[in-house]
Amino acid sequence: MSLGEFDLIDRFFKRPVRQAVLGVGDDCALLQPAPGTQMAISCDMLIEGQHFFADVDPAKLGHKALAVNLSDLAACGAKPLAFTLALALPHADEAWLAAFARGLFALADAHNCELIGGDTTRGPLNICITVFGEVPVVDGRSQALLRSGARPGDDLYASGTLGDARLALLALQGQLDVPGEALQVARVRLEQPTPRVALGLALRGIASAAIDLSDGLLGDLGHVLTASGCGATVDTAAAAGLLRGDLARHLGAEQRLSLVLAGGDDYELLFTAPESARAAVQGASQMADTPVARIGRIDAGTGLRLIDAEGRPVSGHFASFDHFA
Ligand code: ADP
Ligand code: MG
Repeated sequence: MSLGEFDLIDRFFKRPVRQAVLGVGDDCALLQPAPGTQMAISCDMLIEGQHFFADVDPAKLGHKALAVNLSDLAACGAKPLAFTLALALPHADEAWLAAFARGLFALADAHNCELIGGDTTRGPLNICITVFGEVPVVDGRSQALLRSGARPGDDLYASGTLGDARLALLALQGQLDVPGEALQVARVRLEQPTPRVALGLALRGIASAAIDLSDGLLGDLGHVLTASGCGATVDTAAAAGLLRGDLARHLGAEQRLSLVLAGGDDYELLFTAPESARAAVQGASQMADTPVARIGRIDAGTGLRLIDAEGRPVSGHFASFDHFA
């Protein structure tokens, strides 16, 4: 690269370490897990054309690349510690790198998560981040939130709002017509998602299972049901309420529901908790300053049922979701 691989790393990605024992510069970084904790590790790759548009604002891309990884830590109830960054770049564009690093480190600093290493190479734009987080072990039991912990009778919840990111994507692709103001709101959700780290931490010891919503509510719920060996009933009226009101008014009922149930890239948390934990869930929501809504329940047996506000089965145009049943 014109700038030089090592100059580039020094200039844009090397910073003094804070929590790590050793950061950027040697063959390995060194992390010292706190006594009585386990390390939670997750890796996500973002590829141009597949996960973002080629002309996306690099600062927003830096944010999103880390945000989708922090979202996985949130879903496990893990506290962010550190991350590595593997970067393939077509060329060393200094303005691009400066903006990318700015967006990346703004979010990293907000979560006290430090960059401890990585790899830099020439190639088609590709960003791969691995995050490391910490989960306490109490009385020999991991406090990590897993997909496999849902039990029949548990309530099903989702955080924040759903469908905004897909709405923005469809509008940007010219497949959906929404006013500029509404698109601006939705676009922030698509390009700069908020990982629900505080909520994930607050739900430790309360939620029975959790997953972050990257592929869409029904698909990701399917992962929880498979891992837990359960079924679920989703109240579509409650779920439809998860689309932001200022966006929902531009859409028909069917479109709304399809965005909420099948739209991806929301990076909200989907989680379950026993009915006896309703007050605790509300407490966690307040502590994390993140709204949560109850949208269904976990059933014995298998299968995913959709019902309307009166409890009647919802089918018809949602037949395409049958492969989750
Ligand atoms: P090695 O050849 O041992 O893999 P490199 O020469 O690729 O090491 O990298 C030198 C140092 O810079 C290592 O500590 C590595 O972790 C770090 N590094 C390389 N690329 C990045 C990056 N994009 N962000 C942060 N650290 C990086
Ligand atoms: Mg290397």
